[in-house]
Amino acid sequence: MSKNKAQPPSVVHKVIMVGSGGVGKSALTLQFMYEEFVEDYEPTKADSYRKKVVLDSEEVQIDILDTAGQEDYAAIRDNYFRSGEGFLCVFSITELDSFQQTVEFREQILRVKQSDENIPFVLVGNKEDLNDKRVVTIEAAEERARQWGVNYVETSAKTKHNVDKSFFTLLRLIRDKKLQEAALNTQTNKKKDKKRRCVVL
Ligand code: GDP
Repeated sequence: MSKNKAQPPSVVHKVIMVGSGGVGKSALTLQFMYEEFVEDYEPTKADSYRKKVVLDSEEVQIDILDTAGQEDYAAIRDNYFRSGEGFLCVFSITELDSFQQTVEFREQILRVKQSDENIPFVLVGNKEDLNDKRVVTIEAAEERARQWGVNYVETSAKTKHNVDKSFFTLLRLIRDKKLQEAALNTQTNKKKDKKRRCVVL
């Protein structure tokens, strides 16, 4: 048996890219995956990617589902959202409508996740390199993030500015949530064990 097989498989964190069409979800994903800026990427359906990364000295895998914005059927969209452990909710700082759409995406996600306000979620203002065409102010975006209790990161898929930061911020949130849940489960199991032992005695 090879040595690798004996090693425990690294944990997988599932990330979903959401946001209206044209905000740069694919460009951010491809920049993070392959370190290149793809100008004209035209997917017809959702694409998924997987990559090994080192998160605070632990090797983990990131699974990214890049939704194409053509999930016309709510059931398909909800299935995608249900499978996600964390969300990068992207808008373009050059398009007001895409900023408004983030409200709808957040509502859809919360609905699917049974209103779990602690769902790992990062609000991303992309196309930061086009600052001269900015229509969404940093203050407005930060205010929305504050109301939601989430982080706000401005990125540029073109220059790679903050691209890693946005993904790693989300990965840490997902990891911490899983650790909290595992700790809670252990506590509950210990309590159950105690109860069972009491009954035996
Ligand atoms: P999606 O529909 O959200 O996946 O958006 P795409 O990734 O297909 O990007 C839409 C368009 O915006 C493409 O022409 C990209 O080249 C461009 N784009 C994406 N991100 C950036 C960015 O950060 N800066 C600039 N200047 N253009 C970007």
